[in-house]
Amino acid sequence: MNDRPPPPCPECRRIKAHYYAADRAGDRPAAEAWTTAMGRHLRQAH
Ligand SMILES: [Zn+2]
Repeated sequence: MNDRPPPPCPECRRIKAHYYAADRAGDRPAAEAWTTAMGRHLRQAH
């Protein structure tokens, strides 16, 4: 993930919320899966 300002897209916010929750929980596989999901979403929806 990067440090750019949060994008306004609801799906981006949803994915980022899941990512940060997984990151805070120390669940690296889940965090990496959400990072992948975010990359896919950015390509498909933006
Ligand atoms: Zn988005």
